Amino acid sequence: MKNIYQYKLSHLTTEQIQELMKRYYNNEKNNLLIEEYNIDIRNSLLSKTFPLKEHKNTLCPFCNIPMFSYRESKSTYNWHKEEIFCKKCSHKHNVNFCDCLNCKKNKQILQEIQLQEEKLLNNKKIEIILATYIDESKKPIDLDILTIKDKLYISALLRTSLSEDLEYINPISSIKLKLAPTQKYKMNLISDLREKQFILFSPNTALDSIIVEDEEIVSYYPMNVTFKLNIDLEDYEENIQNLLHLNIIEDIDSELKIELWSEIALSECLEFLYAKMEEYNLPIDYIGDKTISALKESLKHFSTSQNFNFIWRTVKNAAAFYQKDKISKKHAVNTIAGGILRSCEKAKAENWEVKGYSRDYNYPQSIISEIFFDNILEIGDKGFTSVVG
Ligand SMILES: [Zn+2]
Ligand SMILES: [Zn+2]
Repeated sequence: MKNIYQYKLSHLTTEQIQELMKRYYNNEKNNLLIEEYNIDIRNSLLSKTFPLKEHKNTLCPFCNIPMFSYRESKSTYNWHKEEIFCKKCSHKHNVNFCDCLNCKKNKQILQEIQLQEEKLLNNKKIEIILATYIDESKKPIDLDILTIKDKLYISALLRTSLSEDLEYINPISSIKLKLAPTQKYKMNLISDLREKQFILFSPNTALDSIIVEDEEIVSYYPMNVTFKLNIDLEDYEENIQNLLHLNIIEDIDSELKIELWSEIALSECLEFLYAKMEEYNLPIDYIGDKTISALKESLKHFSTSQNFNFIWRTVKNAAAFYQKDKISKKHAVNTIAGGILRSCEKAKAENWEVKGYSRDYNYPQSIISEIFFDNILEIGDKGFTSVVG
């Protein structure tokens, strides 16, 4: 790095230059000085012609020699950090980003080290996932111990995302088919199967779908993991086919029937509720336990299809309330639980013939709902149009 304007003072002696600088910083006018000293430069660049300032105590980290800076102009004097540089390698001091060759090289080395470390970390992760898989797959499930609920969950998951070669359960997030009505239901279903070790983390799952700490898998993203079904390999294909085309011969006991039916019905009502709220621009994050218990109560007396009627009406009223009465959206959403309960109680007390709604075209029936009502209960659409029971 050279001072490209320095030669403009080459006709002056060192003493003259010292004097010129002194007068410059004493605020004498640039144009007068330029004229008097006969310098060929624009007014604003005068200070650039001055000899560089040497910083004896600041050595270049690469060349180990003192660094330099330009002389500050009067106008910028004292208000910003001066840029110090090495004359030999152009390295800059006091800057946020130096692009000298040495710094560039250093940065590259650092990046390579980081990349290497990341690679090592990923290799470690692959090892841990594989070891976990090998360990867990030593205890495959015996199909005889599966409950109807287990079979329903497994069947729904397999139908949604089993790979073509029957080997893997692809990540739910990558599949168009709808496993269950709501996100929460999907997550619960996967977590339940995972907890019972009916499904294992596949050795080829995406590395960022799994969280590893201290040589152990401590957490995972249920929607993003590739799983493998953990069943006896002897009749693997036959067992898979049986689970896919669930054929339950045994009678489902009425308690379990009500539990699963209610679970699916509630989830379908929530899906419809969220869809309608989105239509009216109401935030769904305010929906909590109060609304859920209102829906549970209403589902004891009316079908999912009839509850869609209550939901649609209540959301419409909440949106109107918000617009007309200038209340907050949160307040509007808070009226939904009460609205659904009131509709239900009124319809009950006055013996209304509540008109059932059909499924929303944009929200088709989920796989778990299809399997439960078509294959297990064998009641088809009645699961939607009749009261749980
Ligand atoms: Zn240097
Ligand atoms: Zn540098």
